[in-house]
Order: sequence, then C-alpha cells, then structure tokens
Amino acid sequence: MSVIAVDFDGTITKDRGGYPDLGEEQPLALRTLRDLVAEGHQLILWTCREDHETRIDKRHLTDAVEFLLNNEVELWGINERPAEEDFRYGDCPLRRKVHADYYIDDRNLGGFPGWHAVRAFFRLPTLCVSCESTDVHSVPNWLQCGTCGASDRIYYEEIQRIRFVRERTI
Ligand SMILES: [Mg+2]
Ligand SMILES: [Zn+2]
Repeated sequence: MSVIAVDFDGTITKDRGGYPDLGEEQPLALRTLRDLVAEGHQLILWTCREDHETRIDKRHLTDAVEFLLNNEVELWGINERPAEEDFRYGDCPLRRKVHADYYIDDRNLGGFPGWHAVRAFFRLPTLCVSCESTDVHSVPNWLQCGTCGASDRIYYEEIQRIRFVRERTI
C-alpha cells in the first residue's frame, strides 16, 4: 500500500475560478480518492491552502479539509505525515518536502492526466467519466459506456499511456 500526496486546487477540483473558492469537482476525483482509501492507500492532502490566523472568512485550508470529509474522503495527513509515522526529525526548523510514494498534482511536469488515469495507475476499475458506471468497454480504440452511451477516445489513450508508465516504473 502506498502513501499518496494529493493536491487540491486544479487536481481534486477545477482550478479556474476556484481558489479561494472550492471550485467544481474534477470528474471521478472524490470517487477515486474513496476507492484508494478502501484499497488501503493513505492520503496526505498536499496544498498551499492555509487558514488566516484570525479571520473566520479566510479558512481556506479548513474549507478544503471539510469538503473532503463531507465527501467521505479519509485523510491520513494534512501537508505532512502523522508525526509518529515520520522517520525524520520532527523539529527541523526548515521546511521540507512531504514524504510520499506518489504525488498527484496538476503542476506535474506534463500536466495532470485526469482521475481516470489515476484509476488505471492504481488498478482501480475503469469508470465512465460521465456517469461513473463500471459498464465501460474498450471498442477497440476508445471507451464506450454501456449505461449512458458516452464514448471517449482521449480517455482511452491516456489510460493506455499511464498503464505503460506504470509498467516501466513499478
Ligand atoms: Mg494545484
Ligand atoms: Zn456513462
């Protein structure tokens, strides 16, 4: 099982018109995060959001955390591993990278491939991006949903690409 650091703005939600508002969910984001936790992975929210010290209307980190908890996404850490799980010196005055096995972020070099690709990488069932049905078939160069009829070639190609990446990296 893996520790997965996941960005919020532009990754879990759509960035444009988002921050400091929460923005709209990216397709399959919350469902995929719940599925990853159900598979035993541990999620660290990895975000630049923070709460203002005194202004109750500027609790941008709390907004994001509550959004995830309200959508039944269980977090293992927020911008850090739980202290008892971190092998490094906890009192280091210098900020350092959150330690994780994987980072999911829209600022990834090459861009964010989408949650359907995250699902493929972690071997979760392919879902229709439109209706979240599992009744999705590859025919032969695109995806076709048997429930809502949606079809998509780009998703198909991205899923193939991420499977290729996966085979080369783990
Ligand atoms: Mg982002
Ligand atoms: Zn569908």
